[in-house]
Amino acid sequence: MITLARLLFPLLLLAVPWALAPLARSLEPALVALLDNLPLFLGLLAVFFAGAFKRGRLTLVAAHLVAAVMLIQAAQTDNLNAPDSYVVFILTSLIAPLMQAWVVIQQDTSLLSRRGIFKLASALLPYLIIGAAWHYHPGELVKLLVQFPPLLLDMVHGELLLNKLAAWVCLGLILLGLVLTLFRRTGDEVALLGSLLSFALGVAYLRDPALSTLFFILIPTSVLVAVTQHIYAMAFIDGLTGVPARRALEHRLAGLGRHYAIAMLDIDHFKKFNDTYGHDVGDQVLRMVATQLRRVEAGGTLYRYGGEEFTIVFSGRREEEVVNALDRVRERVANYPMQVRAPQRPRNDKVGRESRGGQTGQTQVTVNISIGVAWRESEEKPAQVIKRADTALYRAKGAGRNRVMTDGPDPRRQRGRAA
Ligand code: GH3
Ligand code: MG
Ligand code: MG
Repeated sequence: MITLARLLFPLLLLAVPWALAPLARSLEPALVALLDNLPLFLGLLAVFFAGAFKRGRLTLVAAHLVAAVMLIQAAQTDNLNAPDSYVVFILTSLIAPLMQAWVVIQQDTSLLSRRGIFKLASALLPYLIIGAAWHYHPGELVKLLVQFPPLLLDMVHGELLLNKLAAWVCLGLILLGLVLTLFRRTGDEVALLGSLLSFALGVAYLRDPALSTLFFILIPTSVLVAVTQHIYAMAFIDGLTGVPARRALEHRLAGLGRHYAIAMLDIDHFKKFNDTYGHDVGDQVLRMVATQLRRVEAGGTLYRYGGEEFTIVFSGRREEEVVNALDRVRERVANYPMQVRAPQRPRNDKVGRESRGGQTGQTQVTVNISIGVAWRESEEKPAQVIKRADTALYRAKGAGRNRVMTDGPDPRRQRGRAA
């Protein structure tokens, strides 16, 4: 599981606007205009990428917050002292966090469906209504002002342009976001939190246009960071077990030094296990095995090689250390008691349907793994080391399974002995 510190790392981006504001304030007007357009440009990019990768909530967040920013920037350009634009500004600063709350509780399904399009339209509708009322009925919006409660008209602070009601909604949502981040531990949750904070700060600092624009730029940036994390995970992390995948192993192999060991691990009689308990229980076993294996000591890194095979790479460790570490994980897997659904899975579908209701029986099982390990010899390529580790693995299988076998000793140890 990803550590909380690493997960929350993107929130450090919130410091960037303060750091860059002096620079942004000194820009020439043409560059300022360019900067002002970045929230929209990056927003469209974020909507496109989040949508293409089927991140429903991220798409909604990018779309609705960028619409809110467009309205607020337009109101600001129009001069906030004009009553109509002031109302647009106040309303938008409240509607955006409320809409964010709605997005947070949505299911993360793709928006490329009729239901999804409807959701996207719903998220944009309030802004369209405000924008249309402002544009087509000048002087009308201002009539709302008398009906606004004091909380909506009072700012949290003289210098900060966030009204108290919006601030309370934001605060509640930030707390909710922190709790969700803690429980779900996904980059998406952090992006929802980061985008809301960026919006709230961008609105609050509207009197400092450079700083405010930089915060608004952070909104689509948070979404793009989360989408990038998602793409990275798809490329390098195995979806079933959560451990680094084959592609990550290939990168690791390409960057290895001169002294390393590669272990190939394979679950014993896994096909029989699948046939007896079903593939879903098999998947559960794969996850359990991965959880035990990733705790390997001696600095070993675990990868899922494919199917029910794993690879552990050790760099610069002594032979005893590596063999002991491998034997300990082998033992840990063998001793792990797993509760699974009882095996009487009727082959006949009709019988299955009739008896499934009463089938709640659990049973305890254990699985074993066999391990083969080889050390790199001079001039050898990683693929050759893997091949020898595989040979050792087959020997471990032949010798009765549930054991660690080595292919030749660690050459470094041999050299040590000779000397
Ligand atoms: P051995 O002890 O010799 O390794 O026997 P085995 O049955 O484990 O070996 P074999 O290679 O014949 O079977 C591997 C099985 O692993 C085949 C397949 O059903 C199962 N398997 C591979 N990938 C997955 C997966 O992602 N999920 C599940 N549930 N099963 C998988
Ligand atoms: Mg196999
Ligand atoms: Mg196997």
